[in-house]
Amino acid sequence: MAGELMGAVLSSIEGRTDISRVEEVNVTIGRLSMLGEEQLRFCWEAIIEEEPLLKGSLLVIAHEEGRVRCRSCGFEGPIDMTEDPLLHPMLPVFACPKCSCGVDITSGRSIHVNNIKALSAEGAGE
Ligand SMILES: [Zn+2]
Repeated sequence: MAGELMGAVLSSIEGRTDISRVEEVNVTIGRLSMLGEEQLRFCWEAIIEEEPLLKGSLLVIAHEEGRVRCRSCGFEGPIDMTEDPLLHPMLPVFACPKCSCGVDITSGRSIHVNNIKALSAEGAGE
């Protein structure tokens, strides 16, 4: 996942010869992506060591809540979470809170790059 994120960041600055170094990368992680913030940071730190453009950059992480839509009654809302002491601390419940039918996830499953702050090649700041 950190690799995919890295690819997204690199492709968004690809061909930008005016950029000398990336300072900050803002990303949003969906709660249902099951991607831990610490895990992502750890991978990010390892990966940016190999990338001169990204080395020393700061990863800023925001979270997006999971939302679902019921296939049966049309209910839309935040997904219910349940505690599972054996596996994960919290697990999403893929059932409608109103009618218990199956639901489709409408948000909260993805990870995306919001924006990137970079230093210009001239070194004159932003
Ligand atoms: Zn329903």
